[in-house]
Amino acid sequence: MASSFQKSGKGVSLRELSKSNVFTSKLPADPAFETPEISHRAPREALGPRLVRGALYTFVRPEPAEKYEILGVSPKALDDLGLASSETTTQEFRALVSGNEFPWDQSTGGIYPWAQCYGGNLKGGNCTLQDLWLVVLCILLTNGSGSWAGQLGDGRAISLFESTNPYTNVRYELQLKGAGRTPYSRFADGKAVLRSSIREYIVSEALSALGIPTTRALAITLLPRSKVLRERIEPGAIVTRFAESWLRIGTFDLLRARGDRDVIRKLATYVAEEVFHGWETLPSVVYSNNSQPSPAMDNPSGYAPKSEVEENQGLEENRFTRLYREIARRNAKTVAAWQAYGFMNGVLNTDNTSICGLSMDFGPFAFMDNFDPQYTPNHDDHLLRYSYKNQPSIIWWNLVRLGESLGELIGAGDQVDHEEFVKKGLTESSAPAVVERAEKIIEQTGKEFKAVFLSEYKQLMRRRLGLQTDRETDFQDLFSEMLDMMEALELDFNHFFRRLSNIPLSDIETSAQRTEMASIFFHNEGFDSVSLTEAAARERIAHWLEIWRTRVLEDWDTDNDTARQMSMKSVNPSFLPRGWILDEVIDRVERKGDRDVLGRVMQMALKPFAEDWGLDGEEERRFCGDVPKFKRAMMCSCSS
Ligand code: AMP
Ligand code: MG
Repeated sequence: MASSFQKSGKGVSLRELSKSNVFTSKLPADPAFETPEISHRAPREALGPRLVRGALYTFVRPEPAEKYEILGVSPKALDDLGLASSETTTQEFRALVSGNEFPWDQSTGGIYPWAQCYGGNLKGGNCTLQDLWLVVLCILLTNGSGSWAGQLGDGRAISLFESTNPYTNVRYELQLKGAGRTPYSRFADGKAVLRSSIREYIVSEALSALGIPTTRALAITLLPRSKVLRERIEPGAIVTRFAESWLRIGTFDLLRARGDRDVIRKLATYVAEEVFHGWETLPSVVYSNNSQPSPAMDNPSGYAPKSEVEENQGLEENRFTRLYREIARRNAKTVAAWQAYGFMNGVLNTDNTSICGLSMDFGPFAFMDNFDPQYTPNHDDHLLRYSYKNQPSIIWWNLVRLGESLGELIGAGDQVDHEEFVKKGLTESSAPAVVERAEKIIEQTGKEFKAVFLSEYKQLMRRRLGLQTDRETDFQDLFSEMLDMMEALELDFNHFFRRLSNIPLSDIETSAQRTEMASIFFHNEGFDSVSLTEAAARERIAHWLEIWRTRVLEDWDTDNDTARQMSMKSVNPSFLPRGWILDEVIDRVERKGDRDVLGRVMQMALKPFAEDWGLDGEEERRFCGDVPKFKRAMMCSCSS
């Protein structure tokens, strides 16, 4: 697939690509290996697991792979990095994505690979009284509110450098996942199995093509000699991946747990200045006792309703509060997109929640098959902590942890830069006011999170349903009834929207037509339900189709129905990498020596809204068709 740079003959070589190490130059290094030289001289085994204090990373090199095979490179990733497509066959590129070489500017001691240090908090389960034994377990596991995992960190990811796309100026941090142990590997091997690497490689690019913020995947490299022990012995692999930043809420959590207040301030400043492009870019609402809130930047969907803002007049908003709110807004938008497209991350602890609001750390993730709000793709998630319906609240719970880590900074108001406060922090006399202010700010940000989430979710759902205007009644009349119906009739969540896009309004004018049309939403293996007849199911769909048709006619001219269909198809994917497809790809690549299927599925994932891809017609139809019934709503173990 030719990218825009490649078509125009643009794209630079890996060597020409501008590289930097802002992260390691601005933030504190592990004192045990304070410089690249010290780390480089150390035997590889000396860089294994230990507790690392007062630092945000350790310099550590990837383990070279004697033998490797590059299984795939994402053309969109190459394009977004600004690399020429011809680069993928060069020795330099091959050596980079296999962990064999990395740029190290020895003259300055500058760019050298590193692994990040972070921690993680895990929310308590969502227990109901019916599940009494679960309540007990829940309390044991989480002590009522949450549990602290301690130091985690990049146990099998090693960042190589930051690169800046010369055409867009976007800077990314490029890293290898599965290239060996680091001080953060704890009891594990620093490796990644092929199975989970294929899943990450495809889903990162699929989410990006859907327009959902995510970390990205450039390449996948098989390590045929690497035998990795999980439930069985499996081949190892490396995913070369990149993101604007790999920082997580868990990075702040660890600093807070250790009382590293100086580093919290440094890290927050790094995020604002280096990741979000400067404090001045963070939108603010200025609260005061005698003036109305005045947005400093145009961000219509980003603010809490005026009445709520007014309640908080007198609450000074310093720059750290603006940063906190920006992180909350970004995550609100991302989780709204997950809900609108039925994506579940599978393990939403604070160490897997991005500071940039990116989807990240793809373990037992899945796209929803038949709609079921209770569904969790995580086989080990007995408490349904990470189920579809819990995602927005769990992200907010994680953001409250961030609010606590930033609490002193956001609560200090205009005192935040006073010398005494910077040096010593809270005193007995200043603490109560600062804590109270921080709590109010977190509460206010919670309202903003909810408002941004709802506004984004509604906007995406409206688009998916082909609506152009916003009506108060849509949520209840259209969205809620549609979701209840999908759940009751076990309809496929994403196929529903695509099939709806294909219906000309002229084909559902009469009640008889709508009842007839209803069957397009049924599974091709036939409708079966113990509680409902097919006739009743058709009736329910037909009824909803009538509400939808009436609503669409309010927004579109009848002679413009093709435009409405096109608009819907541009947001409703025909292809998504569902669990069963990923399993088939893994089986064919790992056991049957089929390499081409990976490339074809990547091409489909990169153009999820296409009708066809000109690859393998039969396979395309199968992969876009109904999920075989016994392969729906699959679950995946966390071991990877
Ligand atoms: P995850 O479940 O992938 O978010 O990982 C949780 C923590 O375990 C992170 O600190 C990972 O880096 C670490 N981890 C997971 N698998 C491995 C592995 N095979 N080797 C080293 N560290 C790992
Ligand atoms: Mg993780």
